[in-house]
Amino acid sequence: MVLDPLSYMSRWGHKKVMLCHDPDTGLRAVIAIHSTALGPATGGTRMWPYESDSQAMLDALRLARGMTYKYAAAGVDLGGGKGVIIGDPRTDKTEALLRAYGRFVDSLHGEYITGEDAGTTLEDMETIYAETDHVVTLPEHCGGAGDISPATALGAVMATKACAERVWGTPSLEGRRVALQGLGTVGSKALALLLTEGADVVVTDLDEQKVKWALETHAVAAVAPEEIYRQDVDIFAPYALGGIINDETIPQLRCRIIAGSANNILAEERHGDELERRGLVYAVDYVANSGGTIFDTDRLRKGGFQPDRAMANVRRIFERIHEIFAIAAARQLPLYRAADLLAEQRIAGLKSLSLLDAPRART
Ligand code: NAD
Repeated sequence: MVLDPLSYMSRWGHKKVMLCHDPDTGLRAVIAIHSTALGPATGGTRMWPYESDSQAMLDALRLARGMTYKYAAAGVDLGGGKGVIIGDPRTDKTEALLRAYGRFVDSLHGEYITGEDAGTTLEDMETIYAETDHVVTLPEHCGGAGDISPATALGAVMATKACAERVWGTPSLEGRRVALQGLGTVGSKALALLLTEGADVVVTDLDEQKVKWALETHAVAAVAPEEIYRQDVDIFAPYALGGIINDETIPQLRCRIIAGSANNILAEERHGDELERRGLVYAVDYVANSGGTIFDTDRLRKGGFQPDRAMANVRRIFERIHEIFAIAAARQLPLYRAADLLAEQRIAGLKSLSLLDAPRART
C-alpha cells in the first residue's frame, strides 16, 4: 500500500511525523505524534521487519492515535505517540542502533516519550535512556516501575467487578463462575485475584506447563483451549490474544460478561455491535487493560513515582468502566464506541479536536 502521509494525518488529526535515518548504524525509524492535547505524546517503540516504509509509517500513525485514546480514556494526562524501528529485532538490533534512536527521541525535547513494545525490551529502554531522559518504561534500578503486570491484572479485575455490578447489582465476584483464557504474566496474577474474590474459575492455556502449575497451586478446573468459549460461566476472561471475539466464538459464549486484559479482542468492530445485540457486557479492552500503563506512567506525574497513588488510580478503572456504561446508555451507543467517546470528550474538554466521527485506530 502506498501511503500519502499528509492526507492520512489530516484525516485522523495527527500532529507530526519524524523520519529517522542514521547511516552509521543503519537505523531507519518513524516517530509519529498524534496528539499532545493532554500531555507529551507517549507510546512504546516497536521494532518490526516491515515489508515497506509505507507500512512502517502507517503502523506508527495508527498506533500513535490508539495511544491518544488509551491515555485519555484511562484518565492519564498524556498524549499519543509511537515509534517504530524498521528491522528484525532478533538480528538487526544493536546497542549503537538503539542509541542512535535515543538521540532522535531526545531531539524532540520531550514532545515524545518512549517505552517498550513488541520487539523491544526493558533492557533496550535502558540503552535508549543513556541518550535521552524521555523514556517512561524502565527497570526499577533506573527509577522505573519495573514489572507492570500486577497492575494490569488488578485493573482488569476492577473492570470485571464494575461489569458484575452492572449485571447483578453487586461488584462481588463471590461464587461467580469464570472461564479464564491465558495463564501468562497477567493471567496468572488475575487468577489469584479472582480466587481471592471468591470466584469459581476454569482455566486454559496452550502451554500445558502453565495449566499444570494452575492445577497444582490453585483450586481450579482446566479445559482444552478450544473448549474455553463454550463453558457455562458468568464471565469469560480473555488474558491471552486479540481477535478472539469473532464470528466463530460469539455463538459459543454462554457468559454474561467479557472482561480481561487481552488487547484488541474484537476481531472487527461489528463484533462489538453483536455483543451488544446479545446483551453481553464487555469491559472495553483498552480501558480494562490500562492498569499497567497507569502504573508505569505515574513516574511522569508531579512528585515522581508513588506506588500507592499509582495503585489507587489503577483501582479507578472500576469508575471508568461505569462512566462508559453511563455514556453508552445516554447516547445509545455500543460499549466499545462509548469508550471512544469518553476519550474524545476528555480531549475535547482541553482542546477542540474534530475526532468525534472518526473510527479509532487500535493498538
Ligand atoms: P503472556 O505472553 O505472558 O501470556 C499469554 C498467555 O496466553 C501465554 O501463557 C500463552 O500460552 C497463552 N495463550 C496464547 N494463545 C492462547 C490460546 N489460543 N488459548 C489459550 N491460551 C493461549 O502475555 P501477558 O503479558 O500475560 O499479556 C496477556 C494479554 O494482555 C495480551 O493480549 C497483552 O497484549 C495484554 N496486555 C498485557 C499487559 C501487561 O502488563 N503485560 C498490559 C496490557 C495488555
